[in-house]
Amino acid sequence: MLIAFNKNKKLVQAQDAHRKETFFCCACMELVTLKAGRHKVAHFAHQKGSECEKLGEGETQEHLLGKQQLFHFFKIHNPRLEHYFANIKQRPDLLLDNNQIIEFQCSPISSRRLKERLTGYQKISHISNWILGKPYLKQKHSFKKLIQFMRYQVNLGFYIMYWDVDQSKLLIQHHIKSYLGKLIYEWHTIDNLDDLTMFINNPINVCNQRNHLIADLKHHTISIQKQLSLGSSSLIRIQNLCYQNGYNFGGYPLELDYPYYEPPLWGHQLNYIKIKLLLYLKLNLTMSKKSFLEMFDLLTEFPLMIDVKVINGFKMQLLSSWVKLGIIMIDGNLVKLNQMPNWFESYDQKLAAIPNFVKKKN
Ligand SMILES: [Zn+2]
Repeated sequence: MLIAFNKNKKLVQAQDAHRKETFFCCACMELVTLKAGRHKVAHFAHQKGSECEKLGEGETQEHLLGKQQLFHFFKIHNPRLEHYFANIKQRPDLLLDNNQIIEFQCSPISSRRLKERLTGYQKISHISNWILGKPYLKQKHSFKKLIQFMRYQVNLGFYIMYWDVDQSKLLIQHHIKSYLGKLIYEWHTIDNLDDLTMFINNPINVCNQRNHLIADLKHHTISIQKQLSLGSSSLIRIQNLCYQNGYNFGGYPLELDYPYYEPPLWGHQLNYIKIKLLLYLKLNLTMSKKSFLEMFDLLTEFPLMIDVKVINGFKMQLLSSWVKLGIIMIDGNLVKLNQMPNWFESYDQKLAAIPNFVKKKN
């Protein structure tokens, strides 16, 4: 913790505190000790085993330093460090005067715990902004842990915010998209709050057009074939589904990779969902629009993206891309199979068909 009460119940920042005084935790009122040294960020610590410690995340040097730097970054909003909300028993890193909360997250957090904390802030009508630390930036935590912090905004697309304590700067990873099974994104460095406001409020030109689409598509097809021949466990489910229907997964229609840039919401599940839909339609010829869209219900949770409208918009885009490709037609509330796209018998045939397919689609 960076703040504590002194014996007169005045808030004191650790960097201004004197060793000889006594200090008390603002949440549990227990005695805390001042820790300071040449190579340490001055902070207060509970006695070992204190229940209260569980309120905050482990206080690494990075977390303490980042918190202090963010305090200066948001200075214009009169931030309060570690304000304790007794009614929800939560102590966010910063509370701004516009009722926004800043959390600087360096350690991994379970999605259950994250949701609990978000629910707490919702209860007191505060919006929380999550900024991730170096372990996330350096991909020390799994990808699944990372994308639960993804948000969406019209100008930034899907984005994640980081704080780099070495540079004392905010980094924004924006326009995160899925491109042929890989994540692509852009980076932007923010020096101060004015920069941030300007960046968020202006549309950004992102050059989306990859010049090597044909080569990338070939590469993608080859890599799937490689994984299949290695018996990759992640493909077993989808391969079995194809086999049961008399197909080979490696030859799946080129239409299923189109459009090439997709929202990063479904990950590797996207191909599985599309193939399941296609096979269902082949067998039944028709299905309700509602069940078509429900197939794209998210399996991963994105607790910071509360806007269902945004996600529904992306589901509708998938539906209309299949209409454009001529695979389906919409008839009132029904989706009807129009034409089954070409499923290749071998992967060589598929590779050979790529240049023509791309030319036709562009
Ligand atoms: Zn305490």
